[in-house]
Amino acid sequence: MHRSFITRRARQAAALSRVVLCLAALGSGGAVPALASEPAAVLDRAEAQVRVDPALSARLAQQALASLGDGGDADLRVRALLLLCEHQSERDSAAARQRLDQARTLLPQVRQRGLSARAYNCEGELENQAGQGAVALRLFELAVAAAERAQDDAELAEALYRRGYLRGVRGEFSGGLSDLDRAASLFERLGLPEQRTTTQNSIATLYNRMGDAEQARRYYRMTLQAQQRAGLKRELVVTWHNLGRVNEQLADWPAAEEAFRQTLALARELRYARGEAYGLRGLAALANAKGDATQALAQLDAAQALQRGVADERLRGQILLQRGVALGRLARSAEARAALQEALQIFEQAQSTRERASTHEAMAALHAAQGQWREAYAQLDAFKRLSDSLLQRQVDERFAALKLQVDSSSEAQHLRLLQREQAAMTRALTQEKAAGQLRNGVIAIGLIGALLLAALAWRLRRAGQAMRRLAHTDELTGLPNRRDVLARLEAWLARGTPCALLIIDLDHFKRINDTHGHPAGDAVLRAAAEVLRVEGAPPAAAGRLGGEEFALVLPAADGDQAAAVAERLRAAVQALDLQHVVPGGPVTTSVGLTLSQPGDGLSDLLRRADRALYRAKANGRNRVETVTAEDELSERAAPRDATPAASPPDRNPPSSPTAPRPRPAV
Ligand code: GH3
Ligand code: MG
Ligand code: MG
Repeated sequence: MHRSFITRRARQAAALSRVVLCLAALGSGGAVPALASEPAAVLDRAEAQVRVDPALSARLAQQALASLGDGGDADLRVRALLLLCEHQSERDSAAARQRLDQARTLLPQVRQRGLSARAYNCEGELENQAGQGAVALRLFELAVAAAERAQDDAELAEALYRRGYLRGVRGEFSGGLSDLDRAASLFERLGLPEQRTTTQNSIATLYNRMGDAEQARRYYRMTLQAQQRAGLKRELVVTWHNLGRVNEQLADWPAAEEAFRQTLALARELRYARGEAYGLRGLAALANAKGDATQALAQLDAAQALQRGVADERLRGQILLQRGVALGRLARSAEARAALQEALQIFEQAQSTRERASTHEAMAALHAAQGQWREAYAQLDAFKRLSDSLLQRQVDERFAALKLQVDSSSEAQHLRLLQREQAAMTRALTQEKAAGQLRNGVIAIGLIGALLLAALAWRLRRAGQAMRRLAHTDELTGLPNRRDVLARLEAWLARGTPCALLIIDLDHFKRINDTHGHPAGDAVLRAAAEVLRVEGAPPAAAGRLGGEEFALVLPAADGDQAAAVAERLRAAVQALDLQHVVPGGPVTTSVGLTLSQPGDGLSDLLRRADRALYRAKANGRNRVETVTAEDELSERAAPRDATPAASPPDRNPPSSPTAPRPRPAV
């Protein structure tokens, strides 16, 4: 996020063009053309408002453009078009490109040759946002060359600023710093203190990338105060965000949160969607750091929605990176992996080394959490290699860059300090590398052993997984078994999640077995299990309790929802086409339903669901019955003649209608 510096210099140019117009008018013997000077004045105001009120600035530029018309002064029209290109580049890339194309067709007619540099700058900005780092850099280089040819210092400062910033992103620290230094002194000379401040901000960002976060933070804080005093709201969004990033990096969470909240609030006030998206991404990163993955996802969704119309690829990559981390925490590993892979592609395309390293690190964590050690190791290795190269570059480039500054200010003592610092950093790096080599050596020597071990560990893990799976799965139907589904129900209850429990029992199943044989009975069980599998998809949990009896747990479902599911299930079993297995009437089920009460244990729910099932059988089968805790209470209060209407003749009747059927201990 950076800004174009066009105000003061542009105002000078506008004043100049007014003089030219006046002279032209005088030359033709006429009076000063009041109408012709009007769009120039409007454009001046538009350019002055870029950093204060971007929306107003764009409106004014549009107004100037409209009053200039098709035949108006080419310089003024190009300035208005490029101002709109800049404005739209953060909001609507397609519209920005259209403005750029319009400006391009007018460029051959303009007097101010430096404007072609401005066009390259806007195009570079669009490519940069599209994640095309290499293309953007080439365009900023063209902008620098064009501004130098035109001897236009204001455009040159602007182009250097952009090229320096992008070089910093790519890890070319000394080149980036020298560009930014040149830009800062040009802005100083041109009497543009605000532009100089913003450039200094980018120098701070570059220091941060070089590993000097403390220095960067100090600088951002200073800038913040200056910008607050000057009321530069659009700039403040950027500085608050930068401050958030550096605090995030320093793991100073409260300060980072404050900064991202300010970013968000200010961007909302300015209706600056891109700034808002940056703020939300920051808050999501903090939510992830705090372990609140659900909140992180919500914020990332909102950030993603704000990205519409603008292709800011690196921001998209950063959103995806945080999304991957959040999804990983929520054990949605396939989605997490997809998000991280997409992020990695973006960062590779943008040649952003640090972000690539962070993504590999997140991928390693994801694989490790799943026990995929080999993949985790490969990702860690990629992360290490990238961060080693970054560290090496930081050492080299930091020294080169600082030496550059020190040489020009000839502070010999400072230089000696720097040399000591570099020596210390090099030593640290050598040690780090030696440790890495040692590790590689060990791996090389013990490669075969390590591979064998890895294979063994893998097979052991596979065997363990298979055993765990078996221990939790019903062999005949493949559904979770009794132990699994009841353990889930118990865990939900222990956590205080209200649950509905359905017990589903096939009607007259013994008859099916007796008439069509045991294999046919098995086929019916498998078909019923398929229905259960559908209804038991997460967040619900289904399982086979045993025999022809199944359970379905619905966490956080109310009575109506649970009854609807029960009825759907009953109807679905009845609708099964099992003619080929059990010719004759349809297979039906009875369902007993109950809802948990606060304080209920597993046995309370099983008892009530069982009673409800008994009622369903007693009341004619192929139906759903519910017994709630209140029903039980009133039953207890009522005289003990609450015998069901009819005892089910061909279902083993319990010893007493109100007593639960015996169950194995759970
Ligand atoms: P109701 O409508 O009252 O539930 O009557 P029912 O016949 O369904 O109930 P009952 O408990 O009398 O019979 C259940 C039968 O289920 C008895 C048992 O042989 C059979 N069964 C249990 N497990 C299996 C299995 O894995 N495969 C098959 N084919 N039958 C099984
Ligand atoms: Mg039965
Ligand atoms: Mg039964």
